[in-house]
Amino acid sequence: MSYDFDLFVIGAGSGGVRAARFAASFGAKVAVAESRYLGGTCVNVGCVPKKLMVYAAQYQDEFNLSKSFGWDVEAKGFDWPTLISNKNTEIARLNGIYEKLLVNSGVELLNGHAKLIDAHTVEVNGQHYTAKNILVAVGGWPQVPDIPGREHVTDSNQVFFLKEQPKRVLVIGGGYIAVEFASVFQGLGSETQLAYRGDMFLRGFDNDVREHLHQELLKKDMTLRFNCDVQRIDKQDDQSLLITFTDGQSTEVDCIFYATGRRPMLDNLGLENVNITLDKRGYIAVDELYQTSENSILAIGDVTGRVQLTPVALAEGMAVARRLFRKEDYKPVNYDLIPTAVFSLPNIATVGLSEEQARAEGYTVQVFKSSFKPMKLSLSEQQERIFMKLVVDQTTDRVLGCHMVGPDAGELMQGIAIALKAGATKQIFDETIGIHPSAAEEFVTMRTQSA
Ligand SMILES: Cc1cc2nc3c(=O)[nH]c(=O)nc-3n(C[C@H](O)[C@H](O)[C@H](O)COP(=O)(O)OP(=O)(O)OC[C@H]3O[C@@H](n4cnc5c(N)ncnc54)[C@H](O)[C@@H]3O)c2cc1C
Repeated sequence: MSYDFDLFVIGAGSGGVRAARFAASFGAKVAVAESRYLGGTCVNVGCVPKKLMVYAAQYQDEFNLSKSFGWDVEAKGFDWPTLISNKNTEIARLNGIYEKLLVNSGVELLNGHAKLIDAHTVEVNGQHYTAKNILVAVGGWPQVPDIPGREHVTDSNQVFFLKEQPKRVLVIGGGYIAVEFASVFQGLGSETQLAYRGDMFLRGFDNDVREHLHQELLKKDMTLRFNCDVQRIDKQDDQSLLITFTDGQSTEVDCIFYATGRRPMLDNLGLENVNITLDKRGYIAVDELYQTSENSILAIGDVTGRVQLTPVALAEGMAVARRLFRKEDYKPVNYDLIPTAVFSLPNIATVGLSEEQARAEGYTVQVFKSSFKPMKLSLSEQQERIFMKLVVDQTTDRVLGCHMVGPDAGELMQGIAIALKAGATKQIFDETIGIHPSAAEEFVTMRTQSA
């Protein structure tokens, strides 16, 4: 049987673009369909614009700090439309790069929503295309609970395009996107509150790390409401939003930003036409080769609900391209020790097990912790502290987890992740000569175990 394409990719996001480009470079005939924006969530409404906004939000502290080094800087204010417009220009540039990358690798790019018609057929803009293999890489979509006043909510697709900076903002959620945006708004000068229905945000991160960030955000005068859920949202005559919480308390803001999770983007995908099984949470179920229950259809990235990070989607895209078209180079993705960062202010970065996870897995652990004022703040009154922690297996001396809260934690943790991947022991950390003066050297000089 002959097909129009060897591979038809649905979704030109992180995973889809990577799979399409490399499959084409291995000689396959490839098409990719994209309904919204080239580069997907990460480039358009995720990692990239978020990080640009985090950079913008850091300036307030930097301007203040510069005085302690003798600078006489007057920050006359911050202009939200300038940031959004410059960000949009940069994203448009990246969209163009993605288009070039695809077209130059010989991928046929179809702009439009793709729907599965059968196990080998996809419909885009009314046209049917056949393919030997179909890769579903449609990503996720923000999820907002069904509460009265839901229509007044801003989600993570919309927050990057707000026309005005809200003077008062309430962020709802306890995941990394909620914490990051709370920091962005706070840093840019919005009066910021964060409400989360659990005891403490960032579930799954080391408890000391969560508590340290909690204290740092309080120092910045952010209002944090835990064990707190929204009951209803009412728009008032002056356009402000009145939020009533389930405990009867209320607050008034100009914007309520919901970061309460994401669902797989399966809308009108034509799943009823094929034999694809979903897992219990509603994500596309795949085996270790990203194979769905329909033989010719694979799925990668956020739509499979596993590790929802861009570098993971990229690695999965590459693995699929190699397995289908360059078997000799195929290597399964290694999901161990994936480092991750939360770009809150201050940043969190982590790799490996938290102390709680290590104990739950049965390890007898040694814990090393350090908290100190960064040298950069030593001439100022600023009270922010860096926190670092190592979790070590007492039996083998292997470092099981490494955690940091502090400036540039994400930059620093990438290198530590390599050491942990290589199986570094605490002794190797101790034998490593530090870079002085730096915050990072603390990771190789922690000698005293915490009780
Ligand atoms: C606010 C935010 C911040 C984030 N920050 C980070 C971060 O700092 N670091 C990190 O690693 N990850 C981050 N992520 C997660 C990261 O963006 C995702 O893990 C990654 O984009 C997943 O890639 P993907 O290929 O699975 O899907 P996506 O990148 O979401 O791409 C899916 C694409 O498919 C398209 N599509 C959907 N349905 C169809 C259809 N039927 N037909 C045609 N096209 C379709 C969509 O328009 C989209 O372009 C963030 C996410 C968000 C929301």
